[in-house]
Amino acid sequence: ARREGRNHIEFYSPTAWLQARRRLEIEHALRGALEQEEFSLAYQPLIDLADGGVCGMEALLRWHHPELGPCAPGEFIEIAEATGDIVAIGEWVLREACRQAAAWDASGLRFGRMSVNVSAVQLRDPGFTQRVLLACADTGWSTARLELEITESALLLDTDALWECFGALQSAGVALAVDDFGTGFSSLSYLSRFPVGRLKIDRSFIAGLAASDGTGRAVEVTRAIIQLGKALRMQVLAEGVESNEDERLLREYGCDEVQGYLHSRPLAPREMVRWLQARALS
Ligand code: C2E
Ligand code: CA
Ligand code: CA
Ligand code: CA
Repeated sequence: ARREGRNHIEFYSPTAWLQARRRLEIEHALRGALEQEEFSLAYQPLIDLADGGVCGMEALLRWHHPELGPCAPGEFIEIAEATGDIVAIGEWVLREACRQAAAWDASGLRFGRMSVNVSAVQLRDPGFTQRVLLACADTGWSTARLELEITESALLLDTDALWECFGALQSAGVALAVDDFGTGFSSLSYLSRFPVGRLKIDRSFIAGLAASDGTGRAVEVTRAIIQLGKALRMQVLAEGVESNEDERLLREYGCDEVQGYLHSRPLAPREMVRWLQARALS
């Protein structure tokens, strides 16, 4: 290695080199992924703690590339955001989720709202609102049953354009949720300004709940978020609920909805149909 600076030496370390190579491979493979129809959506049910019913679905992106091997959204979304590919991919997600929701609804399945993840990069695109409304109009999915999940970092943009975008979505009846709430560093000021109806507590807080037996910091943060949500008249959903004990504690704290492996992993569409049908019978 040449010794011109720290970065050079780090670049030559084998792990950094492998990471950089993997990143480039993903970047390259992403370019053709939409056209090659390599994406699909998995769906995870959202459960209302008041009556145990299914109150929604979250659409989660899956990518099957023939050579890369398994590549989770946690790995490729960040790269797609950096290249800008997320704008087209995100629009595909939105349309596919609405199309699927309308088809399920027409076949008599009951599942409430469809919730779709939206990246900060998509929000920056001036045509975003129109595209959302068009996706609903084209697929026949009601805007009143669509929710967009937006991370705290996206709300930090806090521009007039973002304001207008949210205003237009709100008047069209589209709901907004703050995703991964509690993990972004942010002032909470946006909560009083943006028309956000729901907070989603990140899995990292829920993972410690049952283990800590109702004590500890994760518990306090979780309770505080639920209280905050209530004070602001928002709904609160906890993600990553894996045990009955997690769910019992969350119900006790006044959480409205849960999502997690306890009820179901994210499922391919056909599996989800079976899951919904089995549940409707029981
Ligand atoms: P997220 O929005 O916080 O989604 C929840 C993640 O937690 C999903 O991971 C889900 O499979 C996982 N999960 C749900 N319940 C449990 C549980 O009980 N235990 C555990 N251990 N995990 C659980 P996934 O599908 O790998 O997605 C990771 C992240 O990628 C998502 O986190 C979201 O930020 C992003 N993502 C996924 N799909 C999209 C998309 O279409 N657009 C955008 N912009 N981001 C997406
Ligand atoms: Ca989400
Ligand atoms: Ca997220
Ligand atoms: Ca999360």
